[in-house]
Amino acid sequence: CVEFRQVSQFFGRQCVFKQLDLQLPQQQVTALVGPSGCGKSTLLQMINGLIWPQAGEVRVLGVPLDWQRLSEQRRTMGYAVQHIGLFPHWTVRHNICVMAILEGWSSERQAARLDKLLDFMQLDAALLERYPHQISGGQAQRVGLCRAMFLDPPLLLLDEAFSAVDPITKVDVHARFQAIQAEEPRSVVLVTHDMQEALKLADWLVALAPGAVLQQGTPAQIQAQPAHPQVARLLEAR
Ligand code: ATP
Ligand code: MG
Repeated sequence: CVEFRQVSQFFGRQCVFKQLDLQLPQQQVTALVGPSGCGKSTLLQMINGLIWPQAGEVRVLGVPLDWQRLSEQRRTMGYAVQHIGLFPHWTVRHNICVMAILEGWSSERQAARLDKLLDFMQLDAALLERYPHQISGGQAQRVGLCRAMFLDPPLLLLDEAFSAVDPITKVDVHARFQAIQAEEPRSVVLVTHDMQEALKLADWLVALAPGAVLQQGTPAQIQAQPAHPQVARLLEAR
């Protein structure tokens, strides 16, 4: 679903990726795991065209990202950003529906989709008329997920999307996520610090260190044979 070809990314003199080659499978959940600062969010931002690498090519759903078609390409991706990124002066409802409004969805269609997603995320409809500062961190995170999923995009980019959800709700949201994925598989790139979550949800796991892919494979393969001491350490940190 996503391919990095010889991608190099620098911030000033800091090199985050040098000639990275990485291919992520279609219609599967890929988890990106690795220490803080290794470049996971940078990868998602490159997929979404928020960061443009200094060298190399990023291909999404088979097509290279292209400045001129970026807004169209972005419509194929739902993106739940790491720091939630709700617009503070908009209600929860407007935050979730904004893309559908721009796409000209009728209010009935919006309402039906909202119902489904609120149920999926275990969110109360009473939250819809509130503003982001009037809901909890875990609720805001699930609102961000609803927004990312609203248009049912073929590619979903989730950056620590479940990290602030309480453990009991998380079990439930994970189960629903797996059920939806089994029913209608889509391509998901999931960044997480939670190794349990990665092993549970991912079909494909990519273990990163700063500037490098240490290992990739199915969770079972990686658990059976960690190829690097740092991968073993990531697996132990559960
Ligand atoms: P975390 O798990 O803490 O979210 P991460 O793996 O997502 O970490 P990134 O946010 O991708 O890490 O950052 C990778 C590196 O690039 C870090 O060293 C970070 O400081 C640096 N970096 C990221 N964005 C920028 C930016 N806009 N300007 C300068 N440096 C940046
Ligand atoms: Mg990050």
